[in-house]
Amino acid sequence: MTELADIPVTTLKGVGAALAEKLARVGLETLQDVLFHLPLRYQDRTRITPIGALRPGQDAVVEGTVAGADVIMGRRRSLLVRLQDGSGTLSLRFFHFSQAQKDGMKRGNQLRCYGEVRPGATGLEIYHPEYRSLQGQESPAVEQTLTPIYPTTEGLTQQRLRNLSQQALLRLGPHSLPDWLPAELAVEYRLGALDQAIRYLHRPPADADLQELAEGRHWAQHRLAFEELLTHQLSLQRLRESVRSQQAPPLPPARRLPQAFLDNLGFQPTGAQKRVAAEIAYDLAQAEPMLRLVQGDVGAGKTVVAALAALQALEAGYQVALMAPTEILAEQHFINFDKWLNPLGIEVAWLAGKLKGKARATALERIGAGVPMVVGTHALFQDEVRFQRLALVVIDEQHRFGVQQRLALRRKGVDGQLCPHQLIMTATPIPRTLAMSAYADLDTSILDELPPGRTPVNTLLVADSRRLEVIERVRLACGQGRQAYWVCTLIEESEEMTCQAAETTYADLCAALGGLRVGLIHGRMKPAEKAAVMQDFKTGALQLLVATTVIEVGVDVPNASLMIIENPERLGLAQLHQLRGRVGRGSAASHCVLLYHPPLSQIGRERLGIMRETCDGFLIAEKDLELRGPGEMLGVRQTGLLQFKVADLMRDADLLPAVRDAAQTLLERWPQHVSPLLARWLRHGQQYGQV
Ligand code: ADP
Ligand code: MG
Repeated sequence: MTELADIPVTTLKGVGAALAEKLARVGLETLQDVLFHLPLRYQDRTRITPIGALRPGQDAVVEGTVAGADVIMGRRRSLLVRLQDGSGTLSLRFFHFSQAQKDGMKRGNQLRCYGEVRPGATGLEIYHPEYRSLQGQESPAVEQTLTPIYPTTEGLTQQRLRNLSQQALLRLGPHSLPDWLPAELAVEYRLGALDQAIRYLHRPPADADLQELAEGRHWAQHRLAFEELLTHQLSLQRLRESVRSQQAPPLPPARRLPQAFLDNLGFQPTGAQKRVAAEIAYDLAQAEPMLRLVQGDVGAGKTVVAALAALQALEAGYQVALMAPTEILAEQHFINFDKWLNPLGIEVAWLAGKLKGKARATALERIGAGVPMVVGTHALFQDEVRFQRLALVVIDEQHRFGVQQRLALRRKGVDGQLCPHQLIMTATPIPRTLAMSAYADLDTSILDELPPGRTPVNTLLVADSRRLEVIERVRLACGQGRQAYWVCTLIEESEEMTCQAAETTYADLCAALGGLRVGLIHGRMKPAEKAAVMQDFKTGALQLLVATTVIEVGVDVPNASLMIIENPERLGLAQLHQLRGRVGRGSAASHCVLLYHPPLSQIGRERLGIMRETCDGFLIAEKDLELRGPGEMLGVRQTGLLQFKVADLMRDADLLPAVRDAAQTLLERWPQHVSPLLARWLRHGQQYGQV
């Protein structure tokens, strides 16, 4: 029997070239794809509800006789159809309707309809129900199973998807859809049969527990979630293997440059920095590429660790690229590395997307000619950027880069042959469960010690009706020789408007705080302007800095001990934590005022409450994850990394240890099952191991 994975959708009835193309767009090319395109939720159309028993909010099938139909001219013109079944009256309301539709609503006509019941002007109503006329027919049978609602795309109706899955289900059996989980594992992890799980989820019986399905607790969902997570794990393992199987330039431990660097640094590395630097140094000396993630809370001193790694490559005569997700952060790194490396006689080049024309050409040329250190944004990933002897790539704030981008780097190594070592640094501590799943391809080092002399930041929640008091507080702090940040948050995702708002706030604060030296920094300013403002704030020439969230990362002014964040409810907790990390770097007691706009939602209150209670980045990350879900938190929506069909990392977190073990067993004993699983669950672009 042919496997469903090998039968194209075009063999199904009603699938021509045009439809096949639409289906391909959502990844449905084979019958197996159709069966793994699982419903998002279900409707219960298995019984007809008497009108008298309807409740608002309920989705229901109703059957009745048309008692009248009128076009109502109110605020919006609508067609109102009254339907009766002897137990009561219901109104169907259509805001869009054709003449033919209206003509079909003759008094005495029998209709069956389905929709959400809601309270309306005439009692209970259904807006735009799905309906069919039963004119002169026997009342047709109701559905025998729950009705699946599939994820879809434009031009692909539920009706069509149901029809396709129906056809595919007819050909489903244990032989047409092989179970790649060996029976031994199925027994060990108590997993049901694959074909039965699939059948159940496409057409749950009328007595299925809708609540259980909605919460993802049914055994069939459990069975598929396990396989999906397992496949995800396998793909990351494969990625890891494929990277490890490449050659990297082994970099012998460095002496001269690190010594000179540390002599000039002005402080001693912390114990954690020394330990992590040693872990990295060991990896770099190997002939296989390092893949290491350094997790460390904001302010833990990751940059020094990165610099030590860079020096090992530089001393061996290779190039190093350091990449950051935003221009301001990249700039800060550029300034730091330039300051640190120049005295050692090492050149540092700069490349960002905004660099254009001659400056860009020059930068590309220098990189090609082997300038030792290059700092920039994701512009460094572009094809036209060619390194001469790239041996190490450092990526700051990895969660904003996708796995794909990281893979692109592999082709930039020495002569396109040797793969560069990769060091990834993240300030957003990742909850353990997620780290296990999202970063299964990386080794991890943890910087769990802050440099000495940091003071915990006292965080306050203040309603914006008390803005004037807060302004006075700023005046007081600056009067005492301290410095302060005033942060304006993003407005509706529009950078333009956010910058304008910052300019207005700046003008207001200048007026309110006459005599204080106030500066402004935002994303629309030229790099040189931004650098000048930052410099003035650093030297203390400016006392108050009004900023957009561009200061989130990379800014370091120990004398700043007060931060006001406007509309903190608009930001993620991780981002708030990062921002707040800009204060509390000196010896003075520091404060962070979250100037929120009431009323706060219940979740909003809980989230800001967490900020007040703790300065521990890991704890904040765990809570943020609970409240918002993983995709949101890691910023990986775009990368698709954590988009699962059935699995849910929060809900299924307890499966992960078993999934890891199962993945290991499968790789060792049934390696031939890996590729079919990847093909089944991951769209082509996501099959990391095969890029
Ligand atoms: P992050 O981990 O958030 O990237 P940074 O690397 O920006 O932290 O370091 C934050 C600040 O702490 C910088 O001013 C840095 O110079 C300083 N710093 C780093 N390590 C130490 C240390 N061991 N002792 C004192 N200050 C340090
Ligand atoms: Mg940093």
